[in-house]
Amino acid sequence: MEGLEQQRDELKSLVEASDNVVFFGGAGVSTESGIPDFRSKDGLYNQVYDYPPEQIISRSFFDAHPAEFYRFYRDRMLFEGVEPNRCHRKLAELEQTGHLKAVVTQNIDGLHQAAGSRCVHELHGSVLRNFCMDCHESYPLAYILASEGVPRCGKCGGVVKPDVVLYEEPLDGAVIDQAVDAIRRADVLVVAGTSLVVYPAAGFIDYFRGGKLVIVNLSPTPLDRRADLCIQGKVGEVFDW
Ligand code: NAD
Ligand code: ZN
Repeated sequence: MEGLEQQRDELKSLVEASDNVVFFGGAGVSTESGIPDFRSKDGLYNQVYDYPPEQIISRSFFDAHPAEFYRFYRDRMLFEGVEPNRCHRKLAELEQTGHLKAVVTQNIDGLHQAAGSRCVHELHGSVLRNFCMDCHESYPLAYILASEGVPRCGKCGGVVKPDVVLYEEPLDGAVIDQAVDAIRRADVLVVAGTSLVVYPAAGFIDYFRGGKLVIVNLSPTPLDRRADLCIQGKVGEVFDW
């Protein structure tokens, strides 16, 4: 097997030869920023709570037990003071230099935009946006952080909900269309930091018709066999040139 350095050079060449790279990322893109993923050994799904995390972050749980939802959410899904890492920054730079067309992300942390990326399709929404479920007034993350218990709308008293897609909720149709369109037109697709087991997001890869599929992940994924270049490593070390 080739060494990481050689594989990184291969990725660099592929990316720099293209003006239509699309990046499709998951939780592994932000672990080096200090935000844990869900499925790794130390990830969220392998910790013990009163309810399984998958249940807590579902829409029916949010509606039935908003206080319990927010306790978990503040504790495990909101991270203060996190910064973009080398991977986020490299992607922003590649957009600037005209190689990268879009980032499609399953992450909800807003770190791509914080790094300077402009074309970001957030399949699962963002913790940075929150809105009143009754009058739709929007609220920044700071409002949630400053509140206690269940955050309430300052205008009408309604429950404020993060603009993140919970289990049982559909993805936003417009965002899906933009993401699919970008992937369909791409000539290089880099898939990184995602276990590729969450559908429908993982199915997005099937829209790719371009030349080169690259997978960068710490652990093997079900699609590794289909990749032209498969790099087992940390995104922060791979996107480092
Ligand atoms: P996942 O937890 O299923 O998989 C993450 C993958 O990233 C794992 O396969 C792991 O081996 C790999 N990984 C971890 N650190 C890495 C690194 N430094 N470099 C390369 N690979 C690394 O995550 P998922 O498939 O993205 O799905 C989980 C869902 O949870 C997502 O849909 C997302 O919405 C949500 N989530 C978001 C965040 C965030 O916003 N930062 C964090 C956790 C979970
Ligand atoms: Zn309101």
